[in-house]
Amino acid sequence: MFDLLRPTTLLCSFCHATAVDGTARTLCGEGGRLSVTWHRGDCPHLAADRILAADEK
Ligand SMILES: [Zn+2]
Repeated sequence: MFDLLRPTTLLCSFCHATAVDGTARTLCGEGGRLSVTWHRGDCPHLAADRILAADEK
């Protein structure tokens, strides 16, 4: 299922982490499309994304 969705990888505007140097990633589904954003462990955006994700079902 995950492979079929072919998530789009987005670059974090703050830490610019990639799948190579990122330590964590967050998933976001909007409009039927799934996107993945990588973050460094100390990126404040990572913490924000986790809070947002917790609020969504
Ligand atoms: Zn980040």
